[in-house]
Amino acid sequence: MTKIPVGVLGATGMVGQQYLSLLANHPWFEVRYVAASPRSAGKTYKEAAAGRWHHAANPDEAVWDLTVQDANDVSRALDANRRGDCAFVFSALEMGKDEIKALEEAYAAAGIPVVSNASAHRWTDDVPMLIGEVNSSHIDIIPIQRKNRRWDRGFIVVKPNCSVQSYVTPLYALIEAGYEVKRLVVTTLQAVSGAGYPGVASLDILDNTIPYINGEEEKSEQEPLKILGSVSENAIVNAAEPRISAHCNRVPVSDGHSACVSLEFGSRKPSVEEVKKIWSSFRGLPQELQLPTAPGRPIIVREEADRPQAKKDRDADKAMAISAGRIRPCPVLDLRFVGLSHNTVRGAAGGGILNAELLKSRGYI
Ligand code: NAP
Repeated sequence: MTKIPVGVLGATGMVGQQYLSLLANHPWFEVRYVAASPRSAGKTYKEAAAGRWHHAANPDEAVWDLTVQDANDVSRALDANRRGDCAFVFSALEMGKDEIKALEEAYAAAGIPVVSNASAHRWTDDVPMLIGEVNSSHIDIIPIQRKNRRWDRGFIVVKPNCSVQSYVTPLYALIEAGYEVKRLVVTTLQAVSGAGYPGVASLDILDNTIPYINGEEEKSEQEPLKILGSVSENAIVNAAEPRISAHCNRVPVSDGHSACVSLEFGSRKPSVEEVKKIWSSFRGLPQELQLPTAPGRPIIVREEADRPQAKKDRDADKAMAISAGRIRPCPVLDLRFVGLSHNTVRGAAGGGILNAELLKSRGYI
């Protein structure tokens, strides 16, 4: 099968590097275009990444020799698109929100689809915020988005904040099984890699926990409602429930965001055993799609009293599965559990690649 040529914007950053390493030997996609800030533009990728490559796994060998382009110059990507080197882009840019918003729109307007990790378009009401196993039906907004913006070939899809899937996927599986969830309290323990590189200063985080991450609690409370919402005539309409209260903490862990969750059901309340059964049998995506990055089981139930743990469970099933454990009754609400997922894989680049695979399976790329 001829591979689809892809571009990575922000290719030199924490998430961009994760894209390059996860896309090495990908069966459907091949990285043929890389872009970053004007500081890196003009260098080979090898020169631009020198001294700051974070991963054990390398990109495809040919990527080291690609010339890094200025991500702000859409005409370069369009040239690459026309010569068959960039069918669509993954966006892992870190700059001002308004700048990212405008830039991603410029790529889409030029006919280059954007699969983004940035938060800039998460609240644009005709842009789907996808967790493949939860709301792949939101892809149906793309024709509406194109009509609204007069884009013929381009479009934008985003993925949510890097901790959200740790609790929204288990939450959705319960809703799909017919249980109403009214209220949810979540306390996240978020790894330092979530802050990019160099991120939090080592002297601030070693031997410490920081009970504040700028903007994170709002995202953790609001994004699930869009994900659980539905596509209406012109936009995605948010779900009304559950009401969510979030406490977000930075902890001295390299990778892996944990979420300690208590939730309250409507009048029907599942037993702990039923919850385990629902999560273990949850699949979310039709297995016949055979998406290369999809985990076999999106939720892995851990029975041990002291799991999931970031170090032991973040890499479960290509680091794409969510591990859920400590499932027990809650004396204040109804049920408690701990969810865990890899923030730069499932929560960032791996999630973006899965979204792109899903879009390909639906004929959009
Ligand atoms: P990062 O390590 O700081 O990397 C930022 C990237 O953006 C670099 O490639 C950088 O290029 C490029 N860039 C910076 N300023 C630019 C400019 N003015 N014009 C063009 N390119 C510019 O950030 P990150 O952690 O990878 O995060 C990337 C995006 O993913 C962010 O929007 C973030 O919110 C989101 N995200 C991150 C995570 C995570 O776990 N880290 C999870 C989910 C989503 P240079 O190297 O040339 O400066």
